[in-house]
Amino acid sequence: MDLNLSPDDVAFRDRVRAFLATELPADIRERTLSGTRFEAGDVRRWQRILHDHGWGAVHWPAEFGGLQSTPIQQYLFELECALAGAPIQLAFGLRMLGPVLMRYGSPVQQQRFLPRILSGEDWWCQGYSEPGAGSDLASLKTTAVQNGDHYVVNGQKCWNTLGQFADWIFCLVRTDGTAKPQRGISLLLIDMKTPGITVRPTVLLDGTPEVNEIWLQDVRVPVENRIGEENQGWTYAKFLLGHERANIAGIGASKRELLRLKRLAARQRRGGQPVIDDPDFRRRLARVEIDLLALEYTNLRMLSAPANSPSAGIAASILKIRGSEIRQALSELLVEALGTAALRFAAHPVADAADAEDDGSAGLTAAYLNLRKLSIFGGSNEIQKNIISQTLIGL
Ligand SMILES: Cc1cc2nc3c(=O)[nH]c(=O)nc-3n(C[C@H](O)[C@H](O)[C@H](O)COP(=O)(O)OP(=O)(O)OC[C@H]3O[C@@H](n4cnc5c(N)ncnc54)[C@H](O)[C@@H]3O)c2cc1C
Repeated sequence: MDLNLSPDDVAFRDRVRAFLATELPADIRERTLSGTRFEAGDVRRWQRILHDHGWGAVHWPAEFGGLQSTPIQQYLFELECALAGAPIQLAFGLRMLGPVLMRYGSPVQQQRFLPRILSGEDWWCQGYSEPGAGSDLASLKTTAVQNGDHYVVNGQKCWNTLGQFADWIFCLVRTDGTAKPQRGISLLLIDMKTPGITVRPTVLLDGTPEVNEIWLQDVRVPVENRIGEENQGWTYAKFLLGHERANIAGIGASKRELLRLKRLAARQRRGGQPVIDDPDFRRRLARVEIDLLALEYTNLRMLSAPANSPSAGIAASILKIRGSEIRQALSELLVEALGTAALRFAAHPVADAADAEDDGSAGLTAAYLNLRKLSIFGGSNEIQKNIISQTLIGL
């Protein structure tokens, strides 16, 4: 696609490329491109490198240590990183809590937490969902009762991504059980080392303990760790979710996987022919490539639109739905291109990875299973469709 980038944007993209060519460690790059199991150490190390070179948060304002890049430049940065094989930057601090702290946090909270997010010193996780409170998040039951200068928190969170590595959790809690559900919620920042916190892994379809249950029993949290006002947490929670969804589209990752799919389908043979020559396979590959191109243009159009345009409120929902559908479709085609070679990894994809031939089969099967989550987390795709229809046609 010819984006007709401005000279400034071309210069920016070239700077990103030059940085990636020299500073992205070869071992990390190799692990990302081969789809090897998630390595927390890679994510931490890469964030440190980015930070040391001034690229820690291209989307943050300069006053908080960011690069204050334009939306198009942010997009170019993420695209180039994904294509080069850089690991993800952890969204929980950089994309979710960071903007909430900048908008609603006290100056003390901003000074305490933002620099450590930027440098990668603090790993944050998200404590929203509970058994019985997923799509219907406002029915959450974890309580926080004020006792002097502390809250005492009791309850259970679930589906907590990568909490086993986390230093901190931002947590929605009920501080008023008598008000309407949305009115009695507060947002607390909790140190994961606080006594009373238990983290138990939940193993996903791909065999990895990527998510956790978190139990909180009489956990004492200083009142100064509350964001904004008591019982106004729903406002901050929704602001944060808008930022979460906007970054689930994963266009850069999809472009990288599309290239991998074409390579694999040209190499794999079925009935004596390369898989890519099969007319039905080609048709579906073309479909997903066109969909991805359309999503990329939609993303760029939305990035260029004024913040108060009619589509602004639902942009994140649209990108989340289409981005997750495309990533899932690509992972399906990758497994299909492998054919029966994929089957032997279906039951225990990660455990069997050591036996894999050098064809990436185990990683692709694991990715296929893992990516089923995309249409569920960050607000399920059905819920996003509800948001779009409510906003556009008032249903
Ligand atoms: C891999 C993974 C990682 C996650 N990470 C985190 C995390 O780090 N932190 C965190 O707090 N949460 C996390 N979540 C939780 C995630 O946000 C919830 O799973 C999601 O909001 C759906 O809630 P639920 O699982 O309770 O399903 P439910 O809300 O019970 O929904 C079940 C099904 O019903 C549909 N449905 C529900 N209500 C409606 C409706 N009104 N209209 C139409 N359809 C509806 C849903 O779309 C879904 O298909 C994660 C989830 C997964 C799978």
